Amino acid sequence: MLIGMADVVWLGEIPGIEVGTVFGSRHEVRSAGVHRALQAGIVGSRNRGAESIVVSGGYEDDEDYGDVIIYTGHGGNDPATRRQSADQSFDAPGNAALVTSALTGAPVRVVRGRNSASSTAPVTGYRYDGLFRVDSWWRERGRSGYYVCRFKLVSVTGDGSTSQGSAGEQGLAPAGTAAPVRVSAVVQRIVRSGRVVEYVKQLHDHTCQMCGVRLVVRGRGYSEGAHIRALGRPHMGPDVPANVLCLCPNCHVLFDNGAIVVTDDFVVQTDGGGSSILHTVPAHDIDPTHFAYHREIHH
Ligand SMILES: [Zn+2]
Repeated sequence: MLIGMADVVWLGEIPGIEVGTVFGSRHEVRSAGVHRALQAGIVGSRNRGAESIVVSGGYEDDEDYGDVIIYTGHGGNDPATRRQSADQSFDAPGNAALVTSALTGAPVRVVRGRNSASSTAPVTGYRYDGLFRVDSWWRERGRSGYYVCRFKLVSVTGDGSTSQGSAGEQGLAPAGTAAPVRVSAVVQRIVRSGRVVEYVKQLHDHTCQMCGVRLVVRGRGYSEGAHIRALGRPHMGPDVPANVLCLCPNCHVLFDNGAIVVTDDFVVQTDGGGSSILHTVPAHDIDPTHFAYHREIHH
């Protein structure tokens, strides 16, 4: 199975494409930008993560529970018999993209193809079923005895997208359509926020701005984006790079809980009395008024 490798990944919702939209063919799915490959089950790259997958019953080990999918990676599959005939590898490009998505937390678009053996699959064509995150990944021996790469995907749309049937049925339940609109707005906000966070993490190449640690997980830099002034009520911090730090998980939890504060001069002060200078890069301007707000609410 070929893998569509994209130089630029398109993460998140495609504007104008509602969850539940049904397409007649893979060509139509591709034209809409929902899954930009005709044969590959996974579109994305190792560096940026996966943007979309198609669940089509092509792998004997796939398990589909609606809002949770146990997805089998690609490779080692005989298209003629649909059986595994070799081990899969997390280094295969599509599998590597899904591992990266697990580390970044970025959402993956899920498209389900017609599959008479699955109650969650559409009756005909291909249906866009919203955004999922890669919760975890592991390898195990599949039914044919070869190792397969497994990915647990969990819906972040959270509206039971697979139980709503075709798009046309949504109009029957007014109470059920209001919530997904709200949820969708939340997801969009998370996706937007993810873009700013990803940008800041790239600027620092995943090196913690406080302690200088650069965690490496399976060959990939790992860091977390921390909003200095939190988003949403009641803090209403802006989702801009000037309000985001690139931190390791330890410093992130200490900072979020006020055990670390930063002065207007970018001196990092820890509860124990230690201090250091915040690591900065020229391309990343940080607004010190956000540090002032953070100190104000924690001390
Ligand atoms: Zn750190």
